Amino acid sequence: MRAILISTGDELTSGRTVDTNSSWLAGKLLNRGIRTLSHHTVGDNADEIAAIIRNAVRRAEIVLVTGGLGPTPDDLTRHALADVLGTELVCCEESLARLQEFFQRRGHKMVQANKIQVMIPEGTSAIINEVGTAPGILSSLDESLVICMPGVPVEMHAMFESAVTAVLPASQLAVAVRVLRVYGLGESNLSERIDDILSDRCSNVIVGTTVAGGLISLTITATDDNDASAAALADQTAAKLTTRLGSLIIGTDSDTPASIVAELLVSRKQTLCLAESCTGGLVGEMITSLSGASEYFLGSAVCYANTAKRDILGVPQDLLDDYGAVSEQVALEMARGSRRRYGGDWAISLTGIAGPEGGTEDKPVGLVFIGLVGPDTEHVFSHVFASQREQMRQRAALAALNHLRLALLGAE
Ligand code: AMP
Ligand code: MG
Repeated sequence: MRAILISTGDELTSGRTVDTNSSWLAGKLLNRGIRTLSHHTVGDNADEIAAIIRNAVRRAEIVLVTGGLGPTPDDLTRHALADVLGTELVCCEESLARLQEFFQRRGHKMVQANKIQVMIPEGTSAIINEVGTAPGILSSLDESLVICMPGVPVEMHAMFESAVTAVLPASQLAVAVRVLRVYGLGESNLSERIDDILSDRCSNVIVGTTVAGGLISLTITATDDNDASAAALADQTAAKLTTRLGSLIIGTDSDTPASIVAELLVSRKQTLCLAESCTGGLVGEMITSLSGASEYFLGSAVCYANTAKRDILGVPQDLLDDYGAVSEQVALEMARGSRRRYGGDWAISLTGIAGPEGGTEDKPVGLVFIGLVGPDTEHVFSHVFASQREQMRQRAALAALNHLRLALLGAE
């Protein structure tokens, strides 16, 4: 069972409004075992809308159109559908009665323009709108269902749940979705490692990648005859990816390095403290935005100036003079100083050049030293993040938490 989604409106094609209807509908359809072949966005132009509907019914059994059912001259979906079906618009008396009652109850007079909303192509039926004034339209063409719904998201959601789901053909397929979160390599490197799995676009299991906030999500979508076999297929692929990628996989769904570190620290009953320079408190922010942080987080010393690094963290002045604030030696002393001050089991420090100014040949913009001091370990890691200031700070914060994650897992 395949679907094509069509969103209409000049506000969408001009980019003023982001099309949220398609993503919402695609998710709902997938839950019912219906795959979406494509999304189309089209302006308020009846000929264009008609052309896309004509094309869609040749390719998919289900065509869902949103928008363009209102009372104004730019609402052209009903005209486009009538054109495709080769019929005239006729008044749906039942919808007209509902609309008149809707206005009466509110003490408003119904204007002539509203009447266009209850006009539907001959041979189709209206779908009741419980939330607004524009009914939807249910029609069929050749072997396909064409269903038009209002564009306003709340109206569309209500109509889909209350009426459209009842007329959608039952899918023969069950779907299981698993998401694995990967940190520590770029998308192209990842793709090379699991190329065979990603390239297989025809089997029952499809794996896709998306990147956001420095993490890659691998989404596994498995389809099969029943829920148990779809789940088993998805789990098998997840296991295969986990074996292949090892500790590069930090977790599932919405896990982040911060949430995983939190779980590990709580389970080990250990505490964490920080010394942040270039990230200015960002690591502390990532940790404290999770509830329950007080169980394992002691505090972060944001020490930007050399004097603060010296006076608060106890970094020796000669190290600052000899090696500079952005150095392996100072990063290590910052972490040691934080651990001493706060008395934590683990301390992380970050010192780097966030740019855009301040880089040299030896120490380019994006260079960060991350100190990690724990019960039996002392490490300093260096990274060069080739990105804008804000992104570099984000990447550095994530890298620091990931080093701690690996240390807690015993991999470093
Ligand atoms: P319409 O039903 O075409 O009159 O659309 C009414 C309003 O719903 C528009 O002005 C948009 O604000 C919103 N809307 C329409 N289509 C979408 C969509 N695909 N995604 C998000 N909002 C939409
Ligand atoms: Mg519109």
